[in-house]
Amino acid sequence: MTHLDGNALAGPLSEVFRDDMTTALGRCASCGDVSVLAEALVYDAAPGWAVRCHACGDVLMTFVRTLDRLRIDMRGLTALEIPS
Ligand SMILES: [Zn+2]
Repeated sequence: MTHLDGNALAGPLSEVFRDDMTTALGRCASCGDVSVLAEALVYDAAPGWAVRCHACGDVLMTFVRTLDRLRIDMRGLTALEIPS
């Protein structure tokens, strides 16, 4: 079975993380709430941020900044819908 290297992700990731993600709809893995990310609760927890569901308070995403990269954990979202 053949595979592509990580460079193949450049296109899809640029589609996901564009200028304004605040209008994207996220579905909470915990309670099922579907809301625009602008409604999420963002906590500055240096060196990163925790994004929590406005309905149940569970973690939707975390962002951790290291010296040379940004690590994003999105396991609290079961779906992310981006307006086209
Ligand atoms: Zn929730």
